[in-house]
Amino acid sequence: MSATTHSDSPQEAADPPSPFNGRGVLHRGVLVLNRQWMAIHVCTVRRALSLVFQDLARVVTEDYRAYDFEAWRDFSMTTPDGVPHVRTPNFSLRTPQVIVLSRYSRVPPRRVRFNRRNIFLRDAFTCQYCEARPPHGDLTIDHVVPRSRGGASSWDNVVVACMNCNTRKGGLTLEEAAMKLVARPKAPHWLACLHFTAGPTERAVWKRFLDGAI
Ligand SMILES: [Zn+2]
Repeated sequence: MSATTHSDSPQEAADPPSPFNGRGVLHRGVLVLNRQWMAIHVCTVRRALSLVFQDLARVVTEDYRAYDFEAWRDFSMTTPDGVPHVRTPNFSLRTPQVIVLSRYSRVPPRRVRFNRRNIFLRDAFTCQYCEARPPHGDLTIDHVVPRSRGGASSWDNVVVACMNCNTRKGGLTLEEAAMKLVARPKAPHWLACLHFTAGPTERAVWKRFLDGAI
């Protein structure tokens, strides 16, 4: 079986057997809610459709309606042009943006790993001093309290900085360099580092289910 592809998402090395094998939209992010409708995870469209297909989850729409597989397939027939969908030889499904799990109630603890990539994601590839967004290769990571002054490598002491700001600040403290941060750095919510999997449309819909979680 095959599916239409609408984006240039990275390919996976091996696809597990699934009626929804394919690429493109199948790799977009889907927000996963637990049984109490709390956001707990982000998975791919393919995984989400597989869960719905197995009756382990239902698709949730912006108006908070939940659809099982059959209902979603019927609803997908009314999909307006331009809405991404997944086609198989037998049916066509609108790509879900949010699913709710039928049985899982827990809220798994999630901590974001402290590494360069996640620091860049937290700060949205934006200099935290002047808000410049140069090419990614021109961004650096700056210790707010310099390491030479005992500053730690931790979420609350590192920020993304453009080369100009990093050079200007050098080994100085904020006061000494007379520079200001756009926001106080802190450990990100796990979702903040997953946003790269979602386009603007998904993000807008997800916000309805996040209730200030981020
Ligand atoms: Zn800057």
